[in-house]
Amino acid sequence: MRIKGIIGQRRAVAQLEDELNAERLAHAYMFVGPRGVGRATAAQALLAAANCQAPAPDGPCGSCGPCHRLAAGTHEDFLVLAPPSEARSSQIKVEAVREAIRATGFAPFAGGSRMILIKQAEHLNPASANALLKTLEEPPPGNILVLTVGDAKELLPTLVSRCRKVNFLPLGAEEIAAELIRRGESEAHARLKAGLAGGSLGRALDLDTAALQTDLQRLVHQLGAGGQALEDWGFAEELVGAHRGTGGIDREGISQALDLLALYFRDAAVAAAGRGKLAWLPGPPAALDIENACRAFARVRRAQGQILGNAAPELALVVLLAGLKEAPIHA
Ligand SMILES: [Zn+2]
Repeated sequence: MRIKGIIGQRRAVAQLEDELNAERLAHAYMFVGPRGVGRATAAQALLAAANCQAPAPDGPCGSCGPCHRLAAGTHEDFLVLAPPSEARSSQIKVEAVREAIRATGFAPFAGGSRMILIKQAEHLNPASANALLKTLEEPPPGNILVLTVGDAKELLPTLVSRCRKVNFLPLGAEEIAAELIRRGESEAHARLKAGLAGGSLGRALDLDTAALQTDLQRLVHQLGAGGQALEDWGFAEELVGAHRGTGGIDREGISQALDLLALYFRDAAVAAAGRGKLAWLPGPPAALDIENACRAFARVRRAQGQILGNAAPELALVVLLAGLKEAPIHA
C-alpha cells in the first residue's frame, strides 16, 4: 500500500508506508517540520491508506466511502484540533483535548482507524498537554494520534517521549513551482512564489504576488529616482504606513516586500552570470555586475533582520536605500 498525494517528503512517506505495510503503525506520532510542507496532508493521507475499502497497489482508491468522506472533510473518525489563531499566545484549550479524548473511548464509527490530528501542538497549554499524556501513552485500540510541531524542543519532553517521530523537510523551489503550475498558476508567477516561499507550499499558496510586486515596483522606482535621505524617509514612512494595521506594524509584511527585493538581486546576479533570465521583474533588469548584486542582496537581508527584530522600520529602510544607491540599479 502506498500513501498518495504528498509533494516531496520521500523519506517521511517511505517511513510511514513501511510501518503501515508491516502493520507496525505507532499509536502516537509527532510530525516534525516547518509549516506548509505537508505534515497535516500526510496525516490525512495515512488515515486514507489505513481505511480505504478498495485499495489499489498505488494507494487508496479515492472513491470508496471513507476515501470520499476524508476528501470532503466529513469523515467521522478524523478529528482535527488546532489553535484558534496564528498568534503565538493562541492556545489549544483543555476542553477541546478532553472532548477528543472522550471520542477515543468509542470504537471508530466507520470501522478501520480513527485519527486525532493535533496541529501546531506547540500551542497546547500545560493543562491541555497534561490531559493528553495518558491517552498518548496508551490510546484505546483503533486510534492514532498525530501531533504536528515545528520543533520537538517546543513540546514537553513527556509528550515527545510518547510519540514516534517523523521528520518533514522544507520543499525544494522546483517542487513548489511544479505544484503551483499544476494548480493553474502561470510559470512566471509560480517561479516567483516558489522563490519567496522558503520551502513551504502553504506559504507559496498564501502569497499575494500582486501586492508584493506593487511594493517592489515602488522600491525599485525609489532607488532609480535617486533623491536624498529626506525624500527616502518620506518614502519609507509611506511604505511602513501601507503595512500598518489595527495590530500595529506588520513587520512580516514589510519583510516579505524586501524578500522580493532580495530575490530581485539574487536573480540579477544569476542573470549577470549568464545563468538565467529575469522573467518576472518589473521594468528593465538592473545593470548590475555579480559583485554589486551580491552586496545588494546582503544589504537587503540585513535590513530584514533589523525590521523583524525591533528596529524602527523607517530607519532600517532609509539605511538600506542609502546603501543600495552606492551601486547603480537601473541601466
Ligand atoms: Zn478508498
